[in-house]
Amino acid sequence: MRKLFGTNGVRGILNKSITVETLVKLGYAIGTYFEGGKILVGMDGRIGSPIARDATVSGLLVAGCEVLDAGLAPTPVIQHDARFNAVNGCIIFTASHNPPEYIGVKVCGPDGVEISREEEERIETIFFEGNYKLAEWSKVGKVRSITGSIERYIEAVVRHVDRDLIARHKYRVVVDLGNSVAALTIPYILKALGCEVYTINDYIDGMFPGRPPEPSEENLGGLMKAVKIFDADLGVAYDGDGDRAVFVDENGVFHPGDRSLALIEDYVMSLKPGTVLVTPVSTSQIVDDIAGKRGGKVVRVKVGSVDVSWTMKRMNAELGGEENGGVFYGPHQPVRDGGMTTALILHILAVREMNLSEALSTLPIYHIVKRKVPCREEVKYKVLSMLEEEVEGIGERIEKIDGLKVWFKDREWVLVRPSGTESIYRIIAEAPSYERAEKLAEEYTKLVTEIVESLSS
Ligand code: MG
Repeated sequence: MRKLFGTNGVRGILNKSITVETLVKLGYAIGTYFEGGKILVGMDGRIGSPIARDATVSGLLVAGCEVLDAGLAPTPVIQHDARFNAVNGCIIFTASHNPPEYIGVKVCGPDGVEISREEEERIETIFFEGNYKLAEWSKVGKVRSITGSIERYIEAVVRHVDRDLIARHKYRVVVDLGNSVAALTIPYILKALGCEVYTINDYIDGMFPGRPPEPSEENLGGLMKAVKIFDADLGVAYDGDGDRAVFVDENGVFHPGDRSLALIEDYVMSLKPGTVLVTPVSTSQIVDDIAGKRGGKVVRVKVGSVDVSWTMKRMNAELGGEENGGVFYGPHQPVRDGGMTTALILHILAVREMNLSEALSTLPIYHIVKRKVPCREEVKYKVLSMLEEEVEGIGERIEKIDGLKVWFKDREWVLVRPSGTESIYRIIAEAPSYERAEKLAEEYTKLVTEIVESLSS
């Protein structure tokens, strides 16, 4: 079947893989799907986002939808405002962490959670069959701008933590806003929590001149330095739409997202044993160790925020998280939220009277090594079935939640899975020692490369 939606909504390069015509038709299809209801829209700071919004909104209006426009805002702000505005759905124009030339369309339901895979398929069917229901000329919708979404969001985030306790510590925080819409919320959340705030890359610019929008270690050299220059307690950086947060400790050391997730998990489970954490197969086993220690439970799902959010909803789970810095805090909203994650980390440091490096040093240590192998879309499925035959009987057990995850003795595993957004296979290996993780990653990179090459003729 032809696909529009990838791992996280519809994404493409403006005027190349996604055109204005496609977006107008997508607007027809989404409008038809929501039967001309009330739709909240918002966007990130990309060059192409106003174009994507206007084209899609035109489609929605002629399909009879009423549109509420919240303007520029981080993704979690729009999601949080869905219920307040009693809408039938929301659409966020964002390509998250992708390079600047990308645009994206993320469709969410009345509770702000991304629509399910089944709902995506229904919109795709309407789109590819051209089965649109357009309104008569006098029944088309209107756009109304709304205000207050950002203020409502900031208030909600602050309500979930002990504001006074955090404020007493007067944390000095450096934030790397990556020229993104996170600039509209994060500094104000930190101010509300009594922090002394220093910002870098703090103006919104769709060219992302400060650093690429992915908050990976190699893109955060500036933040790591700034934390030391300002003698700060911690540094924090966001992706292009402010739904993910990653942290740098007071020594200027970067920590991967699964470690900050584990810190939050440890705290939440210590208060409520039996807490369920929903996380993809790619997250470090550190979260299993914590759940074992605290009497919680880890539920593994496919990679992508949709599966995490929907499993949380189904199981009424308190917590979700990803290795990329996405934390889903159920009591606030079961979606990734960079602002909420930041407030939670500060709350935990304040409660435990520890600095970030101390708090993280209480966690077990594992090493993760990641590799990629280019692979054409047409053979992705075949590669997986060939790989399945290759690994049969290897290791202690094999999990098939998403791709193939092979577990070996001594707490080592390797995950091989086709990317949902790029024409590549991702290989992730984890082990208590770096050497073993690297060796496993190399071994499987070689194996996958051989299989892909055998299919290239
Ligand atoms: Mg994002």
